[in-house]
Amino acid sequence: MNGHVTHFDLVIIGTGSGNSILDSRFADQRVALVERGMFGGTCLNVGCIPTKMFVHPADLASMPAAGARLGVDATLDGVRWADIRDRVFGRIDPIAAGGREYRLHHEDNKNVTVYEGTARFTGPRTLDVDGAVLTADRIVLAAGGRPVLPDVPGLEEVGCHTSDTVMRIDKLPRRLTIIGGGFVSAEFAHVFSSFGVEVSVVARSGSLLRHEDAEVSARFTELAREKWDVRPGRKVLRASRTAGGIRLELDEGALETDLVLAAIGRIPNSDLLNLPAAGIEVAETGHVVVDAQQRTTAEGVWALGDLSSPYELKHVANHEERVVQHNLLNPSSPVESDHRFVPHAVFTAPQIASVGLTEEEARAKGVRYVVAKQAYGDIAYGWAMEDTTGFAKLLADPASGQLLGAHIIGPQASTLIQPLIQAMSFGLSARDMARGQYWIHPAMPELVENALLNLRFD
Ligand SMILES: Cc1cc2nc3c(=O)[nH]c(=O)nc-3n(C[C@H](O)[C@H](O)[C@H](O)COP(=O)(O)OP(=O)(O)OC[C@H]3O[C@@H](n4cnc5c(N)ncnc54)[C@H](O)[C@@H]3O)c2cc1C
Repeated sequence: MNGHVTHFDLVIIGTGSGNSILDSRFADQRVALVERGMFGGTCLNVGCIPTKMFVHPADLASMPAAGARLGVDATLDGVRWADIRDRVFGRIDPIAAGGREYRLHHEDNKNVTVYEGTARFTGPRTLDVDGAVLTADRIVLAAGGRPVLPDVPGLEEVGCHTSDTVMRIDKLPRRLTIIGGGFVSAEFAHVFSSFGVEVSVVARSGSLLRHEDAEVSARFTELAREKWDVRPGRKVLRASRTAGGIRLELDEGALETDLVLAAIGRIPNSDLLNLPAAGIEVAETGHVVVDAQQRTTAEGVWALGDLSSPYELKHVANHEERVVQHNLLNPSSPVESDHRFVPHAVFTAPQIASVGLTEEEARAKGVRYVVAKQAYGDIAYGWAMEDTTGFAKLLADPASGQLLGAHIIGPQASTLIQPLIQAMSFGLSARDMARGQYWIHPAMPELVENALLNLRFD
């Protein structure tokens, strides 16, 4: 195909959420799908799905410790890392392979040509994919992002993992140091420490998960310090190999470790696409600039997901993918993305979930609010669990009673938050939500009910 120009009705770059655009409604269009890495993208191969498949056995492995407080003396005999890892990838790898096979060979995809290579613009709506030249009427950029490596002398030489590689290691190290204090760090610290690894966390900021509401971040940092060797406000200056492992020199102190995981954040893959050649604007963060219909600054080019979205969440990428899909199929009645109430969860221990404004954001924006908290320890199910550290925190508009933000740290936070997301999305006021329905007694959602009732509107 080299040198030869092939024209398509539609080109999609990236097979994460981008792959979901194509269905039978595109059967009459000539489509190219371009992928430089594993079919299925980040969420399936190296993101949400495998991490949570590791978190579940980690939760099980940490149960004996929780049981002891309740009079249940269970012991953990051990974890079989190879079996845990192979269960995860034994499930996921065939899905990625099946997705690729479907697009390449299934008769549903007769109109689809798969290019396995890196797409780069050479001009408006003109792409080079490792020597093949593609032109298209319409192009969708769904190229995602990748982990950033910290600029630490010696780190490359001693070897440094990222979330892309650490889940496939051959055996568990005795000691693991995670650089970074965000959600990827918090999830892997939980996974590996539950499997018996001694975990250290070096974070530049003074608290872990610093984007969460400050009370949640403070509580999490406090709990993390009881389990892991947490070095907040510290920077890694140098890495070197020693007889016994890896030495990391910090701006204050040092660490000996066996494996290093960098989890300092991700950058959009916009730099791989040579976007200036196509007149596509990129923000300072590296995100492709899009409008509410997910259109880029170039005619006929859309973008979605981690490439253009600062949220960097799969449910956002999927939402934007459905918006782009609709707009490709219905150019005369386009729709817009809805980013009003985007929730997220951190699957660490304890779990954390959040939607809407933090108290600090409300203050900084000058938004008027009332705030209430409810401890798990003061609801019946919290007594059953002897929970002493979890809480829900709600912010609401004092005039309308509408919820402005919800933050939960504690067991099942990612599930408990969903009715609050629903209330915010559908405009249900806190009082109506609390008193307009039954709450099953003594179930965990009583945490939410009581937090709502604690809001004082006068
Ligand atoms: C460790 C980890 C855990 C996560 N956990 C969660 C979670 O619990 N919940 C959640 O909502 N989100 C989570 N995320 C984020 C989530 O995975 C992403 O938001 C989501 O996968 C983004 O989808 P996407 O389609 O935008 O990009 P991707 O899925 O990254 O797809 C982009 C694809 O484009 C390809 N590509 C890039 N450039 C080119 C090019 N020039 N040419 C051809 N192909 C190209 C890439 O190879 C890739 O396959 C997690 C991420 C990580 C790293």
